[in-house]
Amino acid sequence: MPRHDIVIVGAGPGGYVAAIRGAQLGFDVAVVEKEEALGGTCVRVGCIPSKALLESSERFQETREKLADHGITVKDVGLDLAAMHRRKARVVKQNTDGVAYLFKKNRITRYHGQGELLGGGRVSVHGGESNHTLEAGHIVLATGSVPVSLPGVELAVDLIGTSTEALDYDQVPESLVVIGAGYIGLELGSVWARLGSKVTVLEYFDRILPGMDLETAKEALKVFKRQGLGFRLGARVTGAEAKGTGRSRSVVVEVEGGEPVEAARVLVAVGRAPASAGLGLERAGVELDERGRVRVDGGFATSATGVYAIGDLIPGPMLAHKAQEDGVALMERLAGGAGHVDYGLVPGIVYTDPEIATVGRSEEQLQEEGIPYRKGVFPFTANGRARALGKTDGRVKILAHEETDRVLGVHIIGPRAGDLIAEAVAGMTYHASAEDLARTIHAHPTLAEAVKEAALAVDERAIHL
Ligand code: NAD
Repeated sequence: MPRHDIVIVGAGPGGYVAAIRGAQLGFDVAVVEKEEALGGTCVRVGCIPSKALLESSERFQETREKLADHGITVKDVGLDLAAMHRRKARVVKQNTDGVAYLFKKNRITRYHGQGELLGGGRVSVHGGESNHTLEAGHIVLATGSVPVSLPGVELAVDLIGTSTEALDYDQVPESLVVIGAGYIGLELGSVWARLGSKVTVLEYFDRILPGMDLETAKEALKVFKRQGLGFRLGARVTGAEAKGTGRSRSVVVEVEGGEPVEAARVLVAVGRAPASAGLGLERAGVELDERGRVRVDGGFATSATGVYAIGDLIPGPMLAHKAQEDGVALMERLAGGAGHVDYGLVPGIVYTDPEIATVGRSEEQLQEEGIPYRKGVFPFTANGRARALGKTDGRVKILAHEETDRVLGVHIIGPRAGDLIAEAVAGMTYHASAEDLARTIHAHPTLAEAVKEAALAVDERAIHL
């Protein structure tokens, strides 16, 4: 029976990063993955292909609508969707091959097949090229999550799908209903709207991006509406059914207490659930919590001795970078170190145009918790680089403790917000005050100056306002 120090089930961002860090620390690491390609949902059918399509669709729209402003005239702008998909596939392959290269480089053993706990430190691998039973010093569960649907909305039905299908539509749907104004709904809704689809987003709450800073979400809604995305807020979807035949097939989506909406396709983006089925958890004595997540202690240990879990399977934001940090922290703990992940400092980014990026507490959370704060806001309309880029939608908002000035939350909507937030995360990790950010020299002219100016604005001394 092959024996490894650590057997990791799942080669997504949590599992593959854990494997590399484990190998760096001197462990003999094996990874069990059921798909041919490594990288998990994020690399194969999530973060990476969606970013490729977001980039291509933005170029398409920009070429059609915005180049004239730069004095560039372009005639007959066309869309070759198949070529766009081929580029996306190449980008994905570069990344999945990249993970395979890193496995080789770090001497990580790869088993192809479904991993299942057998108890007593053993893992069965089946359904791949050959079956194995592995013996492990430690077992790490990193199987991620799967999309969920709604009662009355069956995903198996043609024309009603999740992000996986919406990354691969072979034609631009004439109309698209997106259920859920969260990360996926807004990103993929934007992609297809830019490519010409009439997109309507149905959201249960009376706002988009529930959980994010409200003012920032409201600003985002305004911008998306201006871009032509349709929204129906406070709309609880109760069912969706396909009708018609052949080319006239469509889906009718039922909304509680409102008019039904008809569309050529439906994208269900109402969240994800831990992928814990078929893992043999019960047999091995791995307990779940009331929300179906694997119960772990502060060191990622499950209720079964020697079995650990990370990433989307356990509590915390369901984000690739959180899973990666979980994986690194766990490996360092197994090597006798003290890895730790502060879930209060995990940035969240929506890669629309403009991007939305956020870290720490929202204004609503500070109010609920009764924490006194001061707020500094700086709009991109007042940033020279943003003007030159022609991307002045959005603002940076910094929330700092009223007495200590410690930065408690940063919420950015604007160009490259996803990159700009890194400075805020770094600052907050080292307990920066708004004054610290304000005193930091920022090169001119850069988008990052908006962060400095918002920090200055906390003390009402922004220069360019
Ligand atoms: P989400 O949780 O971000 O958004 C789901 C939305 O659906 C919410 O706004 C919710 O209120 C709404 N909803 C729920 N039930 C509804 C109903 N009956 N009718 C109408 N609306 C309803 O989930 P998602 O967008 O599906 O994304 C899934 C996960 O993937 C998220 O946890 C996210 O963290 C992750 N993800 C992240 C990124 C990124 O980091 N950029 C991108 C894509 C996905």
